[in-house]
Amino acid sequence: PATPPLPDLKALVRTVPDFPASGILFRDVTTLMADGAGLAGAIDALADLAAGLHVDAVAGIEARGFIFGAALAQKLGTGFVPLRKAGKLPVPTMGEDYALEYGEARLELDPAIIRTGHSVLLVDDLLATGGTALAGAQLLRRAGAQCTHAMFVIDLPDLGGMAALHEQGIEGRAVMA
Ligand code: AMP
Repeated sequence: PATPPLPDLKALVRTVPDFPASGILFRDVTTLMADGAGLAGAIDALADLAAGLHVDAVAGIEARGFIFGAALAQKLGTGFVPLRKAGKLPVPTMGEDYALEYGEARLELDPAIIRTGHSVLLVDDLLATGGTALAGAQLLRRAGAQCTHAMFVIDLPDLGGMAALHEQGIEGRAVMA
């Protein structure tokens, strides 16, 4: 049987101007996720980027990082660690505050689900300045994990996130730029 053509993943991402603030071009991945071939193609591409890496667990950043991260974890045969926004976890947590383009945010982690020394691969939908991913990596490291790689569906290269990650010893990889 003929294999279906590969979807154009980039074409499936919707660009919404001036969200959440004036001047921001929001890259909306819900249109990619809603497309069966697009979702599968994105997960396959993330798995290709992870090929050859030793991964004990995948950590995803709330909320869109949960969707790609959990699917990638299932494909790699690992468990999934949620890095949550503030106030969601029912147990004592570790937290990391960080700056966003507009205002402040906080990620939280239950350190009890991290095994010391395990290699945790960080996943989010999009890398911009890198502030969010660095906060996630910092949390994982404080909880005792190794975090040396981070994967994204989209990189916005003009915002310098890859270099910011590299400075902290994290190699970032993205499906598309
Ligand atoms: P940053 O911390 O600057 O790397 O921003 C990355 C986080 O903010 C990710 O969780 C993204 O989902 C979100 N984000 C930042 N900029 C955009 C954008 N232009 N379009 C969509 N999501 C974005």
